[in-house]
Amino acid sequence: MDTALALLAQSGQAPPAGEPGSPAWLQGLIDGLCQLSSRDALTGLANRRHFESVLARELDRVARAGEPALLLLLDIDHFKKINDTHGHHTGDQVLKAVAEELQHCVRPMDTVARIGGEEFAVALPNCPPAFGPMVAERMRARIERCQIAVGLAQPISVTVSLGGAFAPQWVRSNLTLWLERADKQLYRAKGSGRNRAEFEPAAVSQVSAEEKGLLFGNTRFDEDME
Ligand code: GH3
Ligand code: MG
Ligand code: MG
Repeated sequence: MDTALALLAQSGQAPPAGEPGSPAWLQGLIDGLCQLSSRDALTGLANRRHFESVLARELDRVARAGEPALLLLLDIDHFKKINDTHGHHTGDQVLKAVAEELQHCVRPMDTVARIGGEEFAVALPNCPPAFGPMVAERMRARIERCQIAVGLAQPISVTVSLGGAFAPQWVRSNLTLWLERADKQLYRAKGSGRNRAEFEPAAVSQVSAEEKGLLFGNTRFDEDME
């Protein structure tokens, strides 16, 4: 119990309210630990594990309802140089600043995560295809403009490269494939000069109404039920 409380304190969370040991206090402690297990300690964003559960839920929704969902992967350009020039602590400050900027670019229903060292990801449910490049450009430009104060004579600025892929609609895809497709686009963005976004070309859905129906297992079509 003491270790759990120490973990909460360490992450900057308030101790649970109520009489220690009471059901409400215990519930508060459990809620605090759940929150902790889904967050990245440095930036406070969703961590990779939580992000993957968000993506899995989204894949299910896309398969079931055909709603477009976008996955964006972002990677800071030449980040190693920042660490090498200014030290790891400054690098960490840059990561926090980028995390904060990204959160200003999305809707409340979107999830921004830190999924690796200087790699971020955003899940955008119900995202119309034309909105994808717009939101990616908003993120790219906002980060490029940001002057990050790190206690040096000059603020630091960084750029990011982005890769985007929509979940295939009406098809049961999987997490690994979706991440791989977005990663391929990120790789293209790096290869074509960085500080840019690349998207998988929008696929025209070839899936027929009958195939869509197969997603629902044994559910019969209306005409069969007449
Ligand atoms: P590129 O434009 O190709 O992405 O180049 P890069 O330098 O950003 O890529 P690279 O993968 O070579 O370097 C990533 C660096 O991120 C290396 C690693 O030391 C640093 N890094 C990873 N995690 C952290 C962290 O938590 N804090 C800090 N400060 N640095 C980190
Ligand atoms: Mg990287
Ligand atoms: Mg990088």
